[in-house]
Amino acid sequence: MNHAQLTHLGRALRLLGEHGEALTADTPDAKLQEVKADLRRALELLDESAGAAPTTRCAEHPNGPVDESAPDLCLLCETRRRSARRAEFNGPAPQAPPSTAPSRYGTRGDRPQPQQRWLPELWNGQEWQLCGTPRRDRREAELYLAALRRGSRPAMAYRLVHEFTDYEVLRIWGTPVKVDIEPLGNL
Ligand SMILES: [Zn+2]
Repeated sequence: MNHAQLTHLGRALRLLGEHGEALTADTPDAKLQEVKADLRRALELLDESAGAAPTTRCAEHPNGPVDESAPDLCLLCETRRRSARRAEFNGPAPQAPPSTAPSRYGTRGDRPQPQQRWLPELWNGQEWQLCGTPRRDRREAELYLAALRRGSRPAMAYRLVHEFTDYEVLRIWGTPVKVDIEPLGNL
């Protein structure tokens, strides 16, 4: 961009800013037409100043061949991504395929892991009651109870309760086939 272009473009853009400042619900149509013309003028100046427009949105191949269906319009990168997806689809089943469509409900495997917790409880003289946070780890829960028993005023008795929640897929409707999902991209 040379100095003359810079001057003209700067003036045109500042004028658009003024139009924006002055805009109200009462702005007449004639004024809007004027804004439109000034906007066009600014675009023309930009075209002159900015040089050849990139054909893709790819940082690596801005003027490379175009693939209209690719999120970044880059044929070279899209070809690379397609073959990578194909390899993943045909190759050994990945443990956790990358989720291209994030769900607010999350996903779970076909045979989800059961949940296990260990609950520290004490005898309060009447009944058993929870005396600490349920632990994911048995050893941790035992250490916690041992610490309570060594405390200054231990309860009459403590116990460790194993809570086990199992999950089982009962029935599946339809056939869950892995599909080649087009990336959503960040358009
Ligand atoms: Zn590219």
